[in-house]
Amino acid sequence: MSALLQTAQTESDTQPALRNLGKAITRSAVPPLDLRAYYDMLFAAHGPQHWWPGRTPFEIIVGAILVQNTSWTNVARAIENLRRAKLLNPRAIENVPAPRLARLIRSSGYFRQKTKKLKNFVRFLRREYQGSLAKMFRAPTAALRDQLLAVIGIGPETADSILLYAGEHPVFVIDAYTRRMLGRHGLAPAKLGYEDIRQLFELNLAPDATLYNEFHALIVHTGKHFCRPREPRCGECPLRWFLPEPNFLAVPVDAKPVAQSGVRGALRPLWVSSKAERTAAAT
Ligand code: SF4
Repeated sequence: MSALLQTAQTESDTQPALRNLGKAITRSAVPPLDLRAYYDMLFAAHGPQHWWPGRTPFEIIVGAILVQNTSWTNVARAIENLRRAKLLNPRAIENVPAPRLARLIRSSGYFRQKTKKLKNFVRFLRREYQGSLAKMFRAPTAALRDQLLAVIGIGPETADSILLYAGEHPVFVIDAYTRRMLGRHGLAPAKLGYEDIRQLFELNLAPDATLYNEFHALIVHTGKHFCRPREPRCGECPLRWFLPEPNFLAVPVDAKPVAQSGVRGALRPLWVSSKAERTAAAT
């Protein structure tokens, strides 16, 4: 974390520290604008998010599958039902009759599809890793990611959530909140694919599962509380310092940002450099 922020211990300490960091960023001749700076700013403002809310790796995996297309509140109820029924382990999920499993996870929506997805995952786990999550997570990241993506019902966001939050593999999770923030900050075109956005993060950050865990959770927090689909609260958001020039109008008057063109100029190379790196790597 930036030294400018290390002394911020309390809520009241944090705001002046953030303001100082924001001013330092905008005044610097070569602003230290990179994804790590985004992370430092969010962490200083909001602190650790304590993700993922699961007691065991298997519970995290169940949550990652059930949370598709629904809110966490609905998932939490389904997981509590599974816990009460003593089904939160791979063997139990494989053996329980599908209709009963569907009833227990009904609150998470699309419960018939999700029943199949849970069953598909535990069958894969038994077939490939003798039912052992420890064995599964010892597999190399890229190979395991490919295997997870081959399980019907597990897409990139779910696979990466499993790898990162249950297995502590350094894979960045991309979701709608991430896309919205990147788009509004001019860091990635709106229609950029999942893999390209994942590479944007992974090429611009150290491969550190703890960092990826916290950063993704902080982006979700930002998306829920500030970067809403309509009427984003940029004036109160810690990331306002990184906005492209026109949006600086949203910054409160007391913040007095300067060197706006420097900020805007610094945003471009982030994407250009990662794309260049990928092109170079491919040739
Ligand atoms: S400053 Fe505005 S656009 Fe940027 S993340 Fe915050 S709310 Fe979204």
